[in-house]
Amino acid sequence: MRETPLRLAALLLIGSLPHCSLAQEQDFSKVQLKVTKVAGNVYMLEGDDAGNIGASVGEDGIVIVDDQYAPLAEKIQAALKGITDKPVRFIINTHYHGDHTGGNAYFQKQAPVIAQDNVRKRLETGGGAGNGGSVHFDAKPAAKDALPIITFDHDVTVHLNGEDIRALFFPAGHTDGDSIIFFPKSNVVHMGDDFVTYGFPFIDVESGGSIDGMIDAVEKVIAQLPPDVKVIPGHGPISSLDDMRVYVNMLKETRDIVQKALGQGKTLDQMKQAKLLDPWKKYSGDFINQDAFLETLYNSLTGQKTGKFLKHN
Ligand SMILES: [Zn+2]
Repeated sequence: MRETPLRLAALLLIGSLPHCSLAQEQDFSKVQLKVTKVAGNVYMLEGDDAGNIGASVGEDGIVIVDDQYAPLAEKIQAALKGITDKPVRFIINTHYHGDHTGGNAYFQKQAPVIAQDNVRKRLETGGGAGNGGSVHFDAKPAAKDALPIITFDHDVTVHLNGEDIRALFFPAGHTDGDSIIFFPKSNVVHMGDDFVTYGFPFIDVESGGSIDGMIDAVEKVIAQLPPDVKVIPGHGPISSLDDMRVYVNMLKETRDIVQKALGQGKTLDQMKQAKLLDPWKKYSGDFINQDAFLETLYNSLTGQKTGKFLKHN
């Protein structure tokens, strides 16, 4: 599940720009949604390179986490119908990117969208997304009916299907509006894009994301959850806490080596020439390659982020 820059550009834009040319270059008609039962009453819906959807399905109806791209909304609806006839009751967005919020306008005709305050702000204003270097996209302001009707600052809980579905805000990770969603009874967590399996992650430092925030979020989740919890990544197959441990170790090691080079007065170009991230090159992908992740770390560590993150209990 790799995202090429073109496809990412499309996915970032598409939620807010239904007629943009990039959207038309992507052929959504061929996308097949794959439905997997994760654990308890939680399902995962995967569609090509779009963000994974988590769905709590039970006697009260459906709560979905993220809604992929607008052109896939009817396919998502059909896939949900294949699981239950019950209605969608709430939609929760893990963050504002268009491959996770593109279906908001469609689904909000059925049920309210819930998201952290900054998700609504970023959808409303549009603006730049990127790593502060070679990876950059522009997002246009979203239509009013795509904006989350309900927003929260720190956390919110939806009590349906016998589950306390809890969305917790983790600031300054993948973006400045990330929520991680817990399904404690089913023993499942949806990580949003704070955890992905496609290689070096995209950290949207232009939208308030940071390497330290991403590490903080993943470590707090690992510390809180039972060892057999099922993990839905923002992109990629169902994973485990051990998978997240390997991932967060990579994040810490790569951060530390760039931090050390910064302390030695090295420039970004010198770090690129020295191939500082070579020991982790297996994470280098089409979307975020070695140089792009080096830029991400450099820009995050030399930016204004202070590493003061929320305490969660
Ligand atoms: Zn994202």
